[in-house]
Amino acid sequence: MTKAYKNLIGGVWKDSVSGKVRESINPADTSDVVGTVPDSTSTDVDEAVSAARAAYKSWRLVPAPKRGEILYRAAELLIKNKDELGRLATREMGKILPEGLGDVQEAIDMAYFMAGEGRRLEGQTVPSELVGKDCKSVREPIGVFALITPWNFPTAIPSWKLLPAIVSGNCVVFKPSSDTPVCATRLVEILMEAGVPEGVINMVHGSGSIVGAYLAGHHDIEGISFTGSSAVGEELVKSCAGLDKEISCEMGGKNPIIVMDDARLDLAIEGALWGAFGTTGQRCTAASRIIVHEKVYDRFIEGLAKAASKLKVGDGLKDGTEMGPLIHKIQMQKVLEYIEIGKKQGARLITGGRQLTEGDYAKGFFIEPTVFADVTPDMRIAREEIFGPVVSVIKAKDLTDAINIANDSDYGLSAAIFSQDVNNCATAERDLETGIVYINAPTIGAEIQLPFGGIKKTGTGHKEAGGRGGALDMFLHWKVIYRDFSGKLQKAQIEG
Ligand code: NAP
Repeated sequence: MTKAYKNLIGGVWKDSVSGKVRESINPADTSDVVGTVPDSTSTDVDEAVSAARAAYKSWRLVPAPKRGEILYRAAELLIKNKDELGRLATREMGKILPEGLGDVQEAIDMAYFMAGEGRRLEGQTVPSELVGKDCKSVREPIGVFALITPWNFPTAIPSWKLLPAIVSGNCVVFKPSSDTPVCATRLVEILMEAGVPEGVINMVHGSGSIVGAYLAGHHDIEGISFTGSSAVGEELVKSCAGLDKEISCEMGGKNPIIVMDDARLDLAIEGALWGAFGTTGQRCTAASRIIVHEKVYDRFIEGLAKAASKLKVGDGLKDGTEMGPLIHKIQMQKVLEYIEIGKKQGARLITGGRQLTEGDYAKGFFIEPTVFADVTPDMRIAREEIFGPVVSVIKAKDLTDAINIANDSDYGLSAAIFSQDVNNCATAERDLETGIVYINAPTIGAEIQLPFGGIKKTGTGHKEAGGRGGALDMFLHWKVIYRDFSGKLQKAQIEG
């Protein structure tokens, strides 16, 4: 029997007041219902926000090292349950099992990292210009946050928001993607088992346009941390203008890899293959433009097409599968439309391009790994986020030309260069206009101990993950404290 998962409000697992549910489906086999979750309403959101508000009164006063200890326990529980959670990620989202396990590993890494932050959260002390006075800055929680997440990293991205938010002393109402709600629920169950107090994390399932939009605009929250498409993120930013809310949005990408004539071509082809077709191209950092020096262009496209055509596509839970399905039918149709657009605009399809429908493929949403050559920077497949297994190869005259093509994008998340020349690498590192740059590695594979996020249409507000400039900046305010112990009234900057 299909398991019915629930909302979590004030520590109680409960159904929506609507009494309705939504199904979560395995994209490799649509007859497999992974679970049902409540189809919530604004009333459920109101209740969750009130529960978070109430819990915030005491949670903000729990010492941060104690909050961190809960995250250590969560990390241990995630390790204990890694296999089950990794399989669930694959079953619910479609990514191949090694990636499903990697998704959970990212949450484990984040749990340990943010647990440690509970013992840091440092401020500054500086000397005062006056005798008998001291000056310091401290970091304080902000209040109640709405966390809204996509489906492509069903455990990792929720952990990127939940863990820094709560170690900082905030309470949250979490609205996970409707396509991967069971992974999100399992993560929250584990956090509760680790000892998160009632009301600190609340979770409301339901549609983005109803539950998500209502939550983001709620009068009683202080902030929103959103990851998803640029279309939804930009709407959220507009709708929150003037509402005095913190808002951070991590959105789409159109990530380039530059391959120079001095690159190790075998490594560049392997990197492009992983960057473009890992997670079926459904990563915000997926390599979707490969910009290749004209001297090695023919050899590169021949090698990439050969390698892509050999990738084993199928159910990610099966041994040996190298690329899984698209998340749902709408996404599959969108990708197929882009393949038609690429052909119509004159790009040369050198491998793939078709939906897979024979045998077991008919049960899910499968498309062949697809490579277009002779793409020009103005074509739509070179400009718009496709979010699927389609990569565009573009020819460049030299490094300057390649960097100009790479930067000619509305997005600015991740970029990469393959070159054995230190000067080429350093120039690219300096001139590529993205939040992340990889040298001799593809555009995917960020680690959690440094900030994650982009510029231009990709990101607005604070970045995610760890390190200076990471997620803690999103979830903490600075407060400055001057303490005068001279016993007299002292006036800064005033002589005499
Ligand atoms: P999406 O359609 O924008 O949805 C993201 C989340 O927002 C989901 O929980 C969704 O709920 C909710 N939502 C939808 N409409 C909403 C509204 N009007 N108000 C409030 N919330 C709303 O994105 P997606 O298809 O899940 O994810 C793919 C996108 O995420 C890609 O563009 C990818 O590049 C981006 N992404 C970016 C990063 C990054 O860090 N830069 C990382 C991963 C993914 P429902 O599921 O119920 O619709």
